[in-house]
Amino acid sequence: IAAVASVPAEAGDNPTYTNAKAPVDVRVKDLLKRMTLAEKIGQMDQISVVRMQGDCEWSGGEFTPACLKKVLVDNAAGSVLSGGGAGPSVNTPENWAKMVNTVQKYAIDNSRLHIPIIYGVDAVHGHNNVLGATIFPQEIGMGSTWDPDLVGDAGASTAKAVAATGIDWNFAPVTDIARDQRWGRYYETFGEDPLLAGTLAASAVEGIQDAKGAKQVAATVKHFGGYGEPGNGHDRVPGDVSIRYLQDTLLPSYKQAIDAGAQSVMVNSGAINGIPATASHYLLTDVLRKKWGWDGVEVSDWADVVALQNSYHIAADYPEAIAKAVNAGLDMAMEPYDAQGWSDGLRTAVQRGLVTEKRIDQSVARILKMKFDLGLFEHPYVDASKADSRVIGADTALARQAADESQVLLRNDGDVLPISSSAKKIVVAGSYADDINDQVGGWTVGWQGVPDGVTLPGTTVLQGIKKAAPSGTRVVQATTADDAVAQAADADLTVVVVGEKAAAEGSADSPRPELSADQVALVKALKATGKPVVTVVLAGRPLVLGDADGTQGLLMSWLPGTEGGNAVADILFGKVNPSGRLNATWPKDIGNEPMYYQQLPGTNAGPESFVDAAYPFGAGLSYTTYAFDSVKARSATSRTRDTVHLTVKVSNSGNRDGDLVVPVYVSRPSSDVLSPSRRLVAFTKVHLKAGQSRTVSLDVPPSRLAVTPGDIDGAGKQQVERGDYVFTAGDKTAAVTIR
Ligand code: BGC
Repeated sequence: IAAVASVPAEAGDNPTYTNAKAPVDVRVKDLLKRMTLAEKIGQMDQISVVRMQGDCEWSGGEFTPACLKKVLVDNAAGSVLSGGGAGPSVNTPENWAKMVNTVQKYAIDNSRLHIPIIYGVDAVHGHNNVLGATIFPQEIGMGSTWDPDLVGDAGASTAKAVAATGIDWNFAPVTDIARDQRWGRYYETFGEDPLLAGTLAASAVEGIQDAKGAKQVAATVKHFGGYGEPGNGHDRVPGDVSIRYLQDTLLPSYKQAIDAGAQSVMVNSGAINGIPATASHYLLTDVLRKKWGWDGVEVSDWADVVALQNSYHIAADYPEAIAKAVNAGLDMAMEPYDAQGWSDGLRTAVQRGLVTEKRIDQSVARILKMKFDLGLFEHPYVDASKADSRVIGADTALARQAADESQVLLRNDGDVLPISSSAKKIVVAGSYADDINDQVGGWTVGWQGVPDGVTLPGTTVLQGIKKAAPSGTRVVQATTADDAVAQAADADLTVVVVGEKAAAEGSADSPRPELSADQVALVKALKATGKPVVTVVLAGRPLVLGDADGTQGLLMSWLPGTEGGNAVADILFGKVNPSGRLNATWPKDIGNEPMYYQQLPGTNAGPESFVDAAYPFGAGLSYTTYAFDSVKARSATSRTRDTVHLTVKVSNSGNRDGDLVVPVYVSRPSSDVLSPSRRLVAFTKVHLKAGQSRTVSLDVPPSRLAVTPGDIDGAGKQQVERGDYVFTAGDKTAAVTIR
């Protein structure tokens, strides 16, 4: 054994690491000791397939051997990704599976130790990389379902589709807290609330990783930490946050998702408090490794190691940039992108004494462990011939349920909805009414959304309404504003569908997150007809509505995916009783960004006064009525380390069955550290038949009450303050004193 340890050996003599029955840590150790430094460095490198295509041409299903050799043998890359959906030019699942199999086979057959690569994609709302896949609502819509089980099921469905195409690693869920609606990635998050986002992200992780698909898939908690806090609302700009805000508000969602067993974390591209996250020892080691005890794989975001040198200017050259990232705790560099190359750079860093081989071993061990845990050494390939049937439209019923549950009904004046079955004529107006590509948003087939010239299979709002309308109801599409106004004259109702264009990352940033002037003008003109108008918003963030606000009906549909049109129709015609609740505060005025409900009190800030919400966090109507009958604490006193047990009695006092979100907020009559007037500490969603009452139990563990104590210069460890806590559910409260 000693001899093997010192001399890296060829595989082939049945080494321990190839023994599927050996414990993973034993296999990792065995393999690691056989690897050369160059091979180890390669494992920490994740190469984009775009670069492979650029260098080597992917055509008709084959990479040239020269390309594969360069990436997988000469540089011994341990991982390949297709960022932003950049796959083979023919986007069928079968071709994806063939491509991944090809890359995998080359890596295994031609590398000295036959180590499989791990292949990553962004499947953030279904397997959005391939045409014909079921597309779920974007995360912002999934957040408004407040339904962890549903989010888990969508994650599992996505993972099965991803696995069928041979892919092992999903760069999802986005676990960032989004509070600035100017930020273009707002729609990729579960919203503004730490507990809601963390709970749903944890479910997504479990769903993705527990899915029983053609392969196992690893989830990625991204983008750690504080990516949703860009200083000026643009993507990837530095953010300055207090340690208190970081600990109490920005980091807990990642912690929840990591505790759910996430195998990997992707690092924030931005800088926090003057240090790029990719070079932050505090974030990547002190918090993740030491405080949270997590030992999974930390991968950088796109080209972020070289950014330490070229964009952030915290390194004089590439080896120094690599050393800063690796010494901070990074395990793998996504798309190193440098002519000199990752391999040369990290080798130079070792030669200069900037990085130790021991530190490299730690990272490589984690990467190999992930590969062993995923079963990649035993099952590296998939059956490509089965891929199409496992991906194309595989879970439309689940996608429709998700889209249904994500609809948030915000206005229903005079019960304009559900649409009466006696309606004779419905006008459907607005340029988003029949536009599937904008309805699904970015990260769909292409990075910035479905590319021009490609039509995604799916149901638009117009199509959904036409399908669902009763036989006696005529549905007329108005394609211009004048036509819409003219048609409305003898219509029972106009549905006007407004929204924003699909986009991703920087290009989705908007200094004015509001409805465009032409759309406001259209809605205003329709309002002026005096006929009932229902506005449907297809957007990844609340858009300030201005003069377009105040139509009789208002439905926030978010970016509801390929089943979105059916879901809108389900709500409009009353097939589904709406149950979505806002997971984002809807502003009246764009000047109030950042926008969130957890505002702190102050001499000039009453509860949520600066928020000036058009529709507050948690808002959402239904076609029945609910009552919160009581909230009770099991004990009026508690100790700081105890969980507070609550029971909430709710009833459906109306005449339709429905699903009710039951949120519990905490407030502090008096506290040492400023405390928002309400903070979500528990929630559930219950089904209630008409007339039914139910009592639900909700636990509030101490971690949800903990805050960071200390004066401005001395923020310390989180703790639960002693004193009074008031728990509110609906209009009922329960007081608990913590001793
Ligand atoms: C995004 C990540 C994504 C990666 C790979 C980056 O630009 O920030 O969320 O996972 O690209 O596509």
